[in-house]
Amino acid sequence: MFMMNTKKPMSLTTRVILGMIAGILTGFAIRTLFADSSFVDTYIINGLFEVGGKIFIASLKMLVVPLVFVSLVCGTSSLKDLSTLGRMGGKTLGLYILTTAVAITLALIMGNVFHPGSGADLTAATSFKSAEAPSLAKVIIDMFPTNPISAMAEGNTLQVIVFALLFGIAISSAGKPGERIADFFVDLNEVLMKLVTLLMKVAPYGVFFLMAKLFTGLGLSAIWNLAAYFAVLVGTLLIHAFVTYGLMLKGLAGLNPFTFFRKMEDAVMFAFSTASSNATLPVTMETATQRLGVHNKVASFTIPLGATVNMDGTAIMQGVATAFIAQAFNIDLSMSDYLMVIVTATLASIGTAGVPGVGLIMLAMVLNQVGLPLEGVALIMGVDRLLDMIRTAVNITGDSCVTCIVAKSENAFSEEIFNADIELNEKQKVAISND
Ligand code: ASP
Repeated sequence: MFMMNTKKPMSLTTRVILGMIAGILTGFAIRTLFADSSFVDTYIINGLFEVGGKIFIASLKMLVVPLVFVSLVCGTSSLKDLSTLGRMGGKTLGLYILTTAVAITLALIMGNVFHPGSGADLTAATSFKSAEAPSLAKVIIDMFPTNPISAMAEGNTLQVIVFALLFGIAISSAGKPGERIADFFVDLNEVLMKLVTLLMKVAPYGVFFLMAKLFTGLGLSAIWNLAAYFAVLVGTLLIHAFVTYGLMLKGLAGLNPFTFFRKMEDAVMFAFSTASSNATLPVTMETATQRLGVHNKVASFTIPLGATVNMDGTAIMQGVATAFIAQAFNIDLSMSDYLMVIVTATLASIGTAGVPGVGLIMLAMVLNQVGLPLEGVALIMGVDRLLDMIRTAVNITGDSCVTCIVAKSENAFSEEIFNADIELNEKQKVAISND
C-alpha cells in the first residue's frame, strides 16, 4: 500500500544543524573507537571527510569574488546619485569602527573583572613570531588595484570592492550603454544567487564533513587547562552578540532583535563550521537580502566590506587574550597600555583577513605594542580553533546588524521580508531585494 507523504520537508536550518551534530558525534566516536586504525585515518578522516570538507569550502570561496563584484556593481550602478554612496559608506565605516571599539572595551573589562589568567600555571610550548604591522599609507595604497583581474585572481576583496565601486559609478553615469550593462549585471546577480541557493542545498553534508574531520583531531584536553580563558571569552562574545547588537538593532533601527537572531541561524552556522567570514560571505549576503530584507544596493556594499574589515569577535578575542596573557605572565598594564590595546586591536581586526586563524596571528601585533611576550600566543593556540568558530559567527552577525541599521536609515529595508517567517522567505527569494 502506498502512503502519501504529508510530512513537511525539513528546513535548511534544521538540516544544517543535524549535519553539524552528526559530524561532531561522528568525530568523537571515531576518535574514541578507532584511534589507532590506519584504515580509518587514511580513508575516512583524511580521505572522505577531508575531501568532502575541502570541496565544500572551495565551492563557497569560489562564489566570493564573482558575488562581491557582480552584486556590488549592481548595487552601485542602481544608486541615483553619488552622495548616497558617500553617506552610506560613512555610516557603515563609522558603525563598524564603533562596534569594534565597543567589543574590545567590553573584552578588556571582562578580562579585568574575571581575571582568567591569574594563577594560571602555564608554560609556553613554542615561540611565536609577530607579524609586521603594515603602515597605514601602505594599507590605503594597497586598496587600489593596479590590475583588477589579478586582484580577482588573488581574491583580494578590498581591491575588488574598490574596482566594483568605480565600475558601478561609471555604469550609472554612462547613459544608455550604462543601462544595458546594468541590466546584464542584474541578471548575472540573479544567476549567482541561484548558485548560492544550490550550494546551500548540499551544505548539511559539507558541514558534516567539516565537523567530523575537526572533532576527530580537536585537542579538547587543552580546553580544561584554559577553562577560565575559554569561559570569559565565550561569555564576552555572547554578551556582545546578544546585548550590544540587540540594543543597537532596537535603539537605532527599531527592529526586533529576536527576529534578527532567528533569521541569522544559517549564516551563523556556516560561519561556525567554516571559521571564515569570507567563505560565509555568500550565505551572509543571501541572509541579508532574502531573510532580513536589506536592499541589494546596501547589502552588496556593507556585507563584503564587513567580511573584510569588521571583526568584532576577533577584537574581543584579542582583548581577552591580552588581559589573560598579561595576568599569566604577571605583567601590569597601565591605563595608557589599555588605550593602546583598544586602538591596535581595532586596527588589527580591520587588517585581519576573514579566514581561519588569522586573528591569532594579528594578536601578536597587539602584544608587541604593549610589550607583552609573544609566547603568549602559543599559550592559547591549542584552544583557538574552537574559539575561532565562535568569534567568526560573531564577526558576521556584526556585519549583518550594521547592514540592517544602515539599510533602515537609507530606506532600503523591507520590513515585510524581515517579519515574514523563514519558510515564506525561502519561497519568495530574490523578490523585493532587487526592486
Ligand atoms: N576566522 C575569523 C574570520 O574569518 C578571523 C579570525 O579571527 O581569525 O572572521
